[in-house]
Amino acid sequence: MKILLHMCCGPCSCFPVQRLRELGHELTGYFFNPNIHPYKEFRHRLETAKEFAEKVNLDLIVDDTYQLREFLTKALTAETVPNGRCQMCYTWRLRQAANFAKANGYDAFTASLFVSPYQQHEVMKKTAETIAIEEDIPFFYEDFRPGWQTGVDLSLQMELYRQPYCGCIFSEEERYSKAWRKKKKQEQKQLESLTS
Ligand code: SF4
Repeated sequence: MKILLHMCCGPCSCFPVQRLRELGHELTGYFFNPNIHPYKEFRHRLETAKEFAEKVNLDLIVDDTYQLREFLTKALTAETVPNGRCQMCYTWRLRQAANFAKANGYDAFTASLFVSPYQQHEVMKKTAETIAIEEDIPFFYEDFRPGWQTGVDLSLQMELYRQPYCGCIFSEEERYSKAWRKKKKQEQKQLESLTS
């Protein structure tokens, strides 16, 4: 099958590329990630994705438009509902991949995001399935998460840059801000006391 693989980054693509090739699929990588900020981080991840593609001899299509303002506008609107920001982020990227796959004669699309134990796997799966129906292009699903550690090992062997946070500036805050974590813990405690 000719599959377009949406690549969130180089390291997360290591296992899915290995696995899909083992299954006999013909792959092309697709980098479209308007969620990555700030600009230097975006360029670093993009260059790493290119480095990875070269090392494993993978054709890679790149959309290198840096869309900070568009992302923030969408994210701040989406944040008014629980999980809205990530839902928007998955939908934007996966729909773009699905549309590209459909327009360019691929049999299906999938995404390296499905390897990550840190993403909302079921939300992404449902999102991709809905997009597949709406855009009339099959979504190739496999839960790549059992290969997470293999992917980490491969990325280390290839000496790829491994990013410390998901992508957007919100996730960067969540990763580093003690104040944010404290606030979240307090909110969680309040929620638990209300439901107990
Ligand atoms: S945390 Fe990750 S998935 Fe969620 S909006 Fe930010 S970049 Fe996208």
